[in-house]
Order: sequence, then structure tokens, then C-alpha cells
Amino acid sequence: MKECLLTIDFEDFKHDLKRSLSVDNILGSPEGLSKSINKLNEILKQTNSNNQVTYFITGQVARDYPDIVRKISENNNEIACHGNFHDMIYDLSRQEFGKSLDKAIKYLKLASGKDIIGFRAPSFSINKNCEWAFDEIAQRFKYDSSYLSDRDIIEPVQEYKKNAHQMLTLPIYNPIKFLNMRVRVIGGTFLKLLPLNTILNYMREAENKGYVPIIYIHPYELLTEDDFKVKFNEMKNVNFAKRFYWLFRQNQWLSIGNKSFVYKLEKILTIYSHVGTVQSYLKRNNYL
Ligand SMILES: [Zn+2]
Repeated sequence: MKECLLTIDFEDFKHDLKRSLSVDNILGSPEGLSKSINKLNEILKQTNSNNQVTYFITGQVARDYPDIVRKISENNNEIACHGNFHDMIYDLSRQEFGKSLDKAIKYLKLASGKDIIGFRAPSFSINKNCEWAFDEIAQRFKYDSSYLSDRDIIEPVQEYKKNAHQMLTLPIYNPIKFLNMRVRVIGGTFLKLLPLNTILNYMREAENKGYVPIIYIHPYELLTEDDFKVKFNEMKNVNFAKRFYWLFRQNQWLSIGNKSFVYKLEKILTIYSHVGTVQSYLKRNNYL
């Protein structure tokens, strides 16, 4: 059977959106996060998949809901880092980014009791103007999963070395251009909106180039109810037009295509065998 690596970017959508809108009460949705873990476990069970997954978790989730992170870790999943808040790295200074990583590592370690060796940037937000980010990541982690393969590296696993810091990079395969935008087919909104056959074709293409396709999903994509939705009256200090805009815009993540997302994910997992955590994959292949 062909192999894939299923990973989840475990962020609290409700908290992150409220924070970005500067809402007073930025309480998120621990219920939604717990529900998404159950749903993911159900999908893994139904498809007879390996039940150990890499959870790239924000520091905020570990800080606010340490019990959830502890439970994920106790079930032998890998706890990795997804930034402290879900801030775009290109909006941060190098110093701010370094400090935010230290905070996230502290919270994740405290909640899980384990060393954190992997990192993925929120929304893969490392562009040409902030490539220093890789150096900050290499100072703190053993591997990175933020690199997009449309740059110069196309090796499936490659060593990053700079200023005496080194780590492994596992690039996300995204060579497909659509309307001048690079498409990361095997995850997020793209996985929701593209037809299953298109996704499978690109997975095959990745595979032919030596990649074990990395699938990235989010808690809110696994749910079909409004568990993470920020309601109209929860956006009190936001102006009226912006409130309406965000009320509807949230559907892009929280409802449009979510049912077909779960269906597609299950189908993919019957064709591709999920091989376990990134850490175990790297160890098995003698990278670590
Ligand atoms: Zn994310």
C-alpha cells in the first residue's frame, strides 16, 4: 500500500479569530477541539489507519487547555509546535518570532511532558522576506514542516544548515499553479474544494518524485456544526460591516465542503496508509 503522513494543525480557530479582531473576550472552543480529536480517532479507526498522528499545536492551546494536550500526548501522538498564537510569521520581527517560539515550547512541554522537536508555521507563512525564520526554527527544533517545495529544495527530506544550526526540512509538495497561486493540494481548504481525483493525481505525482505525501488538516474541518464559530454578538467592539463580513467569511473554514472533506479524507486513507508520526517516520528512515 502507498504511504502518507497525516498531520493536524491543532489551533483554536475561535480564539484566533477573536484575537485578530481585537474582541474583548477571546475565549475559544475547547469543546470543539475535543470533538475534533474524537472525530479524527473515529476516522483513523474506520479506515484501519495507524492511530498515531503529529499534532502541530499552538502554545495558546497548550497554555489554556493543558489537559487536552496531555491527553493527546498520552495517546502516543506526537506533540509538535504551530507557533505560540496563530500569527503570520511575515508580520513578526525576527526577535518577536524567536520569543514566541520559546513561549510555545514552554507551554507545549509543560502540558505534554515531552520534548518538542517539530515545527510548522501557521498558514505556512514564511515568505522570501522572512527566511530568517528557518534559522530561528533550526535553533530550537530538529525538523521543520513549513517549507513549500516550489522554492529551490525539492528533496523529500533535506538538511538545513546555517550558522552552525541545523535541522531537517520536510517540504510540502505544492508545484501546482492555479490563478497565479500555488496550491497545496493535500490539505486545508484545497482538500475541501478540489475533487478527490485531482487530489489523488497530485498525491501520485508527489509520490513519483519520492515524497511521502504529507496531509495537513485542521480541527474545524472535521466538524460540521458551528463549534468554532464566532457569533455576531460575540464581536461587540467590531464595526457593523466587519461583523457581517466575518460572520459569513467564517463559512470558508467552518462549513463549506466540510462534509466532503471527511469523506475525501476517509477515501484517501483507504488508498494510502498513514505511517504514523513524523518523528517515528524520520527515525525509521534513519534521518534522526
Ligand atoms: Zn494553522
